[in-house]
Amino acid sequence: MPRNGTYHLAEIKADKVCIACDCGLSRRYDRLELLERAGDRSMPALLLELARRNGCKSTEWPLTNDRCRVYYGTPGRRVDASFFSG
Ligand SMILES: [Zn+2]
Repeated sequence: MPRNGTYHLAEIKADKVCIACDCGLSRRYDRLELLERAGDRSMPALLLELARRNGCKSTEWPLTNDRCRVYYGTPGRRVDASFFSG
C-alpha cells in the first residue's frame, strides 16, 4: 500500500529503475543501490531528484509548457501501473 498516497522505493518490486525524458535523458539504476544511496524515497520525489542530478531542465521553476518531462521508463515507453504496485 502506498504511504501518503505515493509509492516508495522500498515497495517497488523491479530490480532496475529506469528514467527517461523528452530531452533525451535516459538512465538505468539498480533499485537496491538507489535505496542505499538515497534512502526510501517517494517515487515522485526521487524522480525529480534524479532528473535534476542528470541536468534535466524539467524540474526548474518556472515550469513552462515546452519543458521536457521526465518519467519512469525507457525513452518513449513509460512504465505502467504494475511497476509501482508489483
Ligand atoms: Zn528532461
